[in-house]
Amino acid sequence: MVSRPRIAIIGAGPGGLTLARILHLAGIAATVFEKETHALERPQGGTLDLHADDGQLALRRAGLEAEFRRIARFEDQGSRLYDEHGTLLFADDDAADADRPEVDRTALREILLASLPVGSVQWGHALHEVLPAGDGTFVLRFENETKGPFDLVVGADGTWSRVRPLLSAYQPQYTGITFIEFGIDDADARHPALAALVGRGKLGAEGGGRGLIVQRNGNAHLRGYAIFRVPADWADKTFDLASPAATRTRLIDEFAGWAPRLLDLIRASNDLLAARAIHALPVGHHWTNRPGLTMLGDAAHVMSPFGGDGVNMAMFDGAELARHLAEKADWREAVRIYEQEMFARVAMPAAHAAEAVATELSHIGLELSLQHMQGHLAARANLAAGVTAHGDAARG
Ligand SMILES: Cc1cc2nc3c(=O)[nH]c(=O)nc-3n(C[C@H](O)[C@H](O)[C@H](O)COP(=O)(O)OP(=O)(O)OC[C@H]3O[C@@H](n4cnc5c(N)ncnc54)[C@H](O)[C@@H]3O)c2cc1C
Repeated sequence: MVSRPRIAIIGAGPGGLTLARILHLAGIAATVFEKETHALERPQGGTLDLHADDGQLALRRAGLEAEFRRIARFEDQGSRLYDEHGTLLFADDDAADADRPEVDRTALREILLASLPVGSVQWGHALHEVLPAGDGTFVLRFENETKGPFDLVVGADGTWSRVRPLLSAYQPQYTGITFIEFGIDDADARHPALAALVGRGKLGAEGGGRGLIVQRNGNAHLRGYAIFRVPADWADKTFDLASPAATRTRLIDEFAGWAPRLLDLIRASNDLLAARAIHALPVGHHWTNRPGLTMLGDAAHVMSPFGGDGVNMAMFDGAELARHLAEKADWREAVRIYEQEMFARVAMPAAHAAEAVATELSHIGLELSLQHMQGHLAARANLAAGVTAHGDAARG
C-alpha cells in the first residue's frame, strides 16, 4: 500500500486550493491542475459571505486567519428588500457585527494561491479525461499531454466536472432560473445615489415575476443579477450578449413597470452583462466509493446560490479531506470517511438551496425573502442576547 499517495487536484477554485494548502501544512504534496492560463485570466466573480463554522473555519485551519481578516468586509453584511415599485420593505443597515463577512472571490483566491509553494498550480491544464492505468492508479489526459500516474485524483473542477463521470451518472440539471449578471464600477464616486440605494451589503427586489439582486463588492463595485424563471436557452435567444448596449436596453424592457430608481441600476451597468443558467445536482447526490478518485465542492454537490452555502461547503470539504488524509494511516480509508461525512453534511444545505430556488419568483417569493431576512435579524439579536438560535440557511 502507498503510504503517501501521489495526489492530483483538478481545479484551483476555493475548494481545491483549500485542500492543497492544508495538505501542504501537513507535509503532503499535491499538484493542482487548472484550466485557466493564469490567476487573473478572468475576474473570479462577485462577493461571497464566509460563514464562521465552515468557510472561516477552513481558512483558520489553513493558517490564513490574518489574511482573511485583511480581506473580509464586515461592514458589507447589510441587506435591504424592495418591491418592484421601489418601496423599501426591510432594511438591516447595521449588520457589521454579524459573523458572515463578505470577501471578493479574487481576493480569496489570491490569499490561497500565495500560501502555496511556487509551482503547486499548473496553469493552462484543462482536464479532458481521467484514465484508469489498470494498476489502481490514474492518468490525466489534457489537450496535448498526459500527466501521471496518480494514486488519488480529486475533482475540484466545479459544476461541469470531468472527474464526475467516473464516479456518478448524474449531471447538474437546470433549475429553471437564469441570471443576467451586470456590474457597476466605482459606484461611490460615479453613482452615489445607486450606492446609497444598495447600502452596505445586498439589495433584493422582486415583483411581477422578475427579481433583482445587487451586492456591494470591494472597491465600491456593485454586482447585479437580474433573475428570470425561463427556459434554459431563453437568454441566448433573447439577448445579443456580444453587444452590452443592446443587452442593457433589452434587459430594461424586461423590467417594464419597475420603479425607475431600480432600473437605474441596470442602466448604469458598465461591466460584464453575462448570462448564467443556474444548475444543481440532485439533493442527496452521492456515489459508491471508488479507490483513487473523489470529488469536493461544486463537482460533488453544486447547488443553487440562493442558499449562500456553496463556497463554504467547498472550502470545508477541502479542509476535511485534508484533515482525514493527514490523520489516517490508510489514505483510502481517509477518503471513504471523508465522503460519508461529506454526503451527510451537505444534505441539509442542498435541500435548503433547492427549496429556495423552487420558490424564487413564485407567488410567495417576496414574502419568503422578507421572512428570511427578518429571521436573520432575529437570530443575530438572540445571539447578542446569549440565546442559541439556528437560523434558516436558505435565501442566504
Ligand atoms: C452567480 C453565483 C453566485 C454565487 N454566490 C455565492 C455566495 O454568495 N455564497 C456561496 O457560498 N456560494 C455562492 N455561489 C456558489 C460558489 O460560487 C461555488 O459553490 C464555489 O465557487 C464552489 O467552489 P469550487 O472550488 O468547488 O468550484 P469552482 O469555484 O467552480 O472552481 C472550479 C475550478 O476548476 C477549474 N476547472 C473547471 N474545469 C476544469 C477542467 N476541466 N480542468 C482543470 N480545471 C478546471 C475552474 O476554472 C475553477 O478554477 C455562487 C454561484 C453563482 C453561480
